[in-house]
Amino acid sequence: MNDKTVYLVGAGPGDIELMTIKSVRLIKKAQVIIYDRLANPDILKIAPKDCEFIDVGKTDGRHPVPQDEINEILYLNALKYNIVIRLKGGDPFVFGRGGEEAIYLYDRGIKFEIVPGITSAISVPAYAGIPVTQRGVVSSFRVITGHEARGKAVSQIDWDSYKTDETLIFLMGLHNLKTICKKLIQHGKKPDYPAAVISKGTTKSQKIVVGNLENIHEKSKNIDTPALIIVGKVVNLRDKLKWFELN
Ligand code: SAH
Repeated sequence: MNDKTVYLVGAGPGDIELMTIKSVRLIKKAQVIIYDRLANPDILKIAPKDCEFIDVGKTDGRHPVPQDEINEILYLNALKYNIVIRLKGGDPFVFGRGGEEAIYLYDRGIKFEIVPGITSAISVPAYAGIPVTQRGVVSSFRVITGHEARGKAVSQIDWDSYKTDETLIFLMGLHNLKTICKKLIQHGKKPDYPAAVISKGTTKSQKIVVGNLENIHEKSKNIDTPALIIVGKVVNLRDKLKWFELN
């Protein structure tokens, strides 16, 4: 590893044991870690003592450090250090802007590597006892940004395509939960169609609210971010599969 490299590393959904061996190996050698608020802060403890930490954390919908500044921070640190870690919650390419950051580096001749992580989209439902597919129930799932449901972009979503029975997983959608449920009902889903909201999944603070498209909004009023919304018949399988709460 003589070349300067920026590693775009997925840190998994929260449970530190869901990190990959590769991500841990790289973090142990990091000279600088540029990280998000989603990453479990304990992860930083495995970095070397002299490692520099740069917090560019974002909250849902608000971006304390604008993306173009983050890109530039990555670039400047790549000039300064040989082993730069850009740590992201879940997987860097699932709504993680990993692609944008990698393109920025590519355009400036900086070497990068992508280290995939376990995405919250699948693992958080798994810790809530909800399989995203189940033979005889549903054979596909869709991961959607719930953030775009805000304002103007709401019209750009092809809500008719959600008439399908496939499992729908909305990330970054908590603030738009009411709109999302309303649109799904308007476009053909029954008000009693199963839905769940899972907050801080895979961690000790995990909270799950189960309901349907009509009442899930009201029921999840006191839920904190990060949270995802899962809509589909698989939600009902939780009755027998909610292992994490029972253990
Ligand atoms: N790259 C990330 C997703 C980034 S978008 C991944 O692959 O997981 C951020 C969104 O992910 C949050 O708004 C929330 O919807 C979801 N999310 C991330 N971690 C979560 C967790 N522990 N519990 C519930 N939702 C989570």
